[in-house]
Amino acid sequence: MVSNHIIPDLTDLKKTEDNLYRLIDKTVEIISECRMCGECCKNLEFIRITPFEADRISKYLKRPIRDFTTIVRNPPSIALKKDENNTCIFLKDNRCMIHPVRPFQCRAIPAMFSSTALESPTYKGCRNGYYYFECPSTNCVVRIRVEDFIRIASTRLFFLENIISLYSVILRS
Ligand code: SF4
Ligand code: SF4
Repeated sequence: MVSNHIIPDLTDLKKTEDNLYRLIDKTVEIISECRMCGECCKNLEFIRITPFEADRISKYLKRPIRDFTTIVRNPPSIALKKDENNTCIFLKDNRCMIHPVRPFQCRAIPAMFSSTALESPTYKGCRNGYYYFECPSTNCVVRIRVEDFIRIASTRLFFLENIISLYSVILRS
């Protein structure tokens, strides 16, 4: 059956995601370094990933996407698999086994760019035009200018809406 949904342009979406990666590298300032304790990779609800991230991880590992992903229904998306303790399957000896290709959500930690980022436990307030975020183990602290945060969060939201619409097209076709 032919869907009435408009299929988003994949090349444009990929460019938007690449740009988001560059933006967080450029604008998230580290105040206190990560101590690699692995706590933020445990007790996870979901580490949602995009199709481009799944492809990148698959190429890096030389393994099929189904080996390390699970389907999430609402909203339609895919996420990294977890073990029986809700720890990401890529955490080994408190190290990320896919560090060079880790997804956006992991690159930004403890900063968050979702619509509920400023209600998250990692958000620690706004001072002198910067939003501050602190990780669960309180070791890693980062800050980002409010205007950069707004730019990244709105671009990320636009990007994810298109990704969800892409999944909707696939599921309905
Ligand atoms: S961000 Fe924090 S919780 Fe995560 S590994 Fe680094 S120090 Fe540990
Ligand atoms: S992909 Fe790496 S950084 Fe992200 S949750 Fe898994 S182990 Fe942690």
